[in-house]
Amino acid sequence: MLTNISIEKAREILLNEVLKPKVIDMPILESLDHILAEDIKSDMDMPPFDRTPLDGYALRSEDTVNADAENPVTLETIDNIQAGYVCKKAIGKGQAVRIMTGAEIPKGADAIIKYEDTVFTDKDVKIFSYIKPDSNIVRAGEDIAIGDIILKQGKTISPADIGILATLGKGRVKVYGRPRVAILSTGDELVNIDEPLREGKIRNSNSYTVGAQVKKLGSEIKLFGICGDDIQAIKKGLNSALEWGDIVITTGGVSVGDADVVKEAFEAVGGKILFWGVRMKPGSPIAVAKYGDKLLFGLSGNPAAAYITFEKFVRPTILKLGGETKYDFIKVKSTLESEYTKVSRKNRIIRAKTYYKNGGFFTKLPDKHSSGILSSLSETNSLFYIPPGTGPYRIGDSIEVELLDCLEVSE
Ligand code: AMP
Ligand code: MG
Repeated sequence: MLTNISIEKAREILLNEVLKPKVIDMPILESLDHILAEDIKSDMDMPPFDRTPLDGYALRSEDTVNADAENPVTLETIDNIQAGYVCKKAIGKGQAVRIMTGAEIPKGADAIIKYEDTVFTDKDVKIFSYIKPDSNIVRAGEDIAIGDIILKQGKTISPADIGILATLGKGRVKVYGRPRVAILSTGDELVNIDEPLREGKIRNSNSYTVGAQVKKLGSEIKLFGICGDDIQAIKKGLNSALEWGDIVITTGGVSVGDADVVKEAFEAVGGKILFWGVRMKPGSPIAVAKYGDKLLFGLSGNPAAAYITFEKFVRPTILKLGGETKYDFIKVKSTLESEYTKVSRKNRIIRAKTYYKNGGFFTKLPDKHSSGILSSLSETNSLFYIPPGTGPYRIGDSIEVELLDCLEVSE
């Protein structure tokens, strides 16, 4: 069993172990932010016909050759066409059709003039300048041409993409499915949020923090409650969680204490441990196991450790399973606005708040940043890495931080 490995090694193992994303078919509105699992080829021109982009008159350019401010040309108006209707008449010499935005260009017409530039009555229209052929005509296929691969497999579906699918008449689309994530908290000290606190007890916050972190990624979650520090109870909880979830996350009981039996429980239900322990602080107690095509993550019970290890390990796994190919956070140079004087032998990850002002990033560190502290995670939007033996860090130092809400993007 691999123990005490580096962050990089742990991510490498995880991302290699993640099985192929599953392709599913869903209604387009539900597909927002999913990764497209097929190329979308257009089987039509959009617009499907030549149309006018403005309200005006359709005419023959050659009829306006001699028009100027002093000598306007008067054309006979032979029809009035709204969007959604088609002119049944063809425009002949000296004729025009009044036409509204989105209507098909009538036969015989080769230009549109906006009605504000004309003087018109019910019967005719005066044109005061030469209107070149093709003026104000949107050609069929100008937006999307038949045969175009308009959306490529691997793309994150945006609201505009859903509009493109709709315009092509596709009500459903193939995307990579998001893994279902089951969450189980372990610890004899835990009570549910609706229970009164008794002696020695605390409320289970991890299930909710981690559940919300999963929800941010668009995955479905289900809470499987609390198990005490008892291998039989945890096995039972894991079995139910495994029945439902593609990924199971537990918190607590994964360190080296007397009551830490989660790793054993992973093995007892048939999981194969991929690694146990990562060289980082907080979050070093973490066990990851594979169970068939499912993954079990045992995170530390300490709220900040669970939070940070989720971001570093669980999040890229969920993203990759959902078909994402980019799952690294964007790193930026930032100016430190707090001190961090502790020189550590460990690989430290400090929660931080980074903001942007006057063209640069600035980072503040919270006063309270031990792994048991939940409250200062509230303002956390970035992580500051302190490699072993470095520091102290002073106000004004240039550092690098990872922005938790910004993933790297492809070209
Ligand atoms: P453990 O990982 O079991 O050693 O727990 C580490 C610390 O996290 C202990 O102080 C626990 O009481 C606390 N803890 C464990 N599980 C939770 C939870 N679900 N919510 C909040 N705190 C927890
Ligand atoms: Mg415990």
